[in-house]
Amino acid sequence: MINVYQPTLGKEELESLEKVFESNWLGKGKRVIEFEEKYAEHIKSSKDLVLTTNCCSEGLFSSMHLLDIKSGDEVILPTLSFVGAGNAVCACGAKMVLCDVDPRTLNARAEDIEKCITPRTKAILLLHYGGIPCEMDEIMALAKEHNIKVIEDAAAGVCSTYKGKAVGTIGDIGMWSFDAMKILVCGDGAMLHFNSQELRRKADRWLYFGLETKSGYENSVAQKWWEFDISCFGHRAIMNDITAAMALEQLKKLPMFMEKRAAVHEYYNEKLKELTWLDLPLQLPDYVTTSYYFYFIQVKNGKRDQLAKFLRENGIYTTYRYYPLHRVPGYGVTGNFPNADYAADCTLCLPMHQSLEAADTRFIVEKIEEFGNKYC
Ligand SMILES: *Cc1c(COP(=O)(O)O)cnc(C)c1O
Repeated sequence: MINVYQPTLGKEELESLEKVFESNWLGKGKRVIEFEEKYAEHIKSSKDLVLTTNCCSEGLFSSMHLLDIKSGDEVILPTLSFVGAGNAVCACGAKMVLCDVDPRTLNARAEDIEKCITPRTKAILLLHYGGIPCEMDEIMALAKEHNIKVIEDAAAGVCSTYKGKAVGTIGDIGMWSFDAMKILVCGDGAMLHFNSQELRRKADRWLYFGLETKSGYENSVAQKWWEFDISCFGHRAIMNDITAAMALEQLKKLPMFMEKRAAVHEYYNEKLKELTWLDLPLQLPDYVTTSYYFYFIQVKNGKRDQLAKFLRENGIYTTYRYYPLHRVPGYGVTGNFPNADYAADCTLCLPMHQSLEAADTRFIVEKIEEFGNKYC
């Protein structure tokens, strides 16, 4: 089976793990700190504005607490959002307000968000679909006008930029995921970005029991280092030196990963453009860069599911992301989302990862062509 996503790990990661074993320090330590510093450089920000955590979903949940979002507040998010985003909003007692998206980019636009704003709107939880940046200038202007916080789920936007700024660094809080199916992977892990050092300090405490001072070695108090105070009833959601060691190696490989993904993207574009029953990803404006996380096609003739099944029977695994939250009965939120419905019913994500061989992509294209000849 050709996987739709898969990680690329090598001896560099293994060797870095060996060094962690030798150091005998597995917890949050110097490798985590180094990863925060290097990642801050990568996104052209400061180490004083970033913080690691154990996963991006934790970041979504924590952002609700950090921005004081509670019962009675409303949070706007695209109905095509990651399930963890929906859960984060609902779990804190806030009202989940869903907005529609652009039918071709699957990103929420300022016009979609504006329709949902009420005096109770506290935040917008944006998703950069497949690593393609949302139109941030318009969205930030809207947020400013209405005094609304912006949270960026840039989980898959590890190399995505908007007008020279890394996505995830534009809103109040942003986050990237390094879970097993992302681009930069370390098993589980995430980076958070804050628009102020004060917010970062609040997050630092929240993600470690609300402790005012760190215990053990990190505590400079000479006596009775076991005493402590807390500022809030925080979580324990930190990265460790094992995952950070892998993440550091993966970070170095990002340019190579991007090159490979861009090549696959171009190949699909070139080969599939003749197929009139498909819409291919839109050409991006020249002021953005993407991370090529998804390569998604849109099947215009209602045969998306049939195509997915045909490909799977031929050993090619595809998927669709993200299942609309307005169709999830558990959320109990309904409404009219024509663009999201269109996108959810015709979009298919093709295999996209660094280990795809030329023979794989050729085979995938051939099978799509074969499907077209037979059924379209
Ligand atoms: C993967 C993903 C997440 C969650 O990341 P984890 O690190 O697995 O918790 C959140 N949002 C989006 C868009 C994702 O793709």
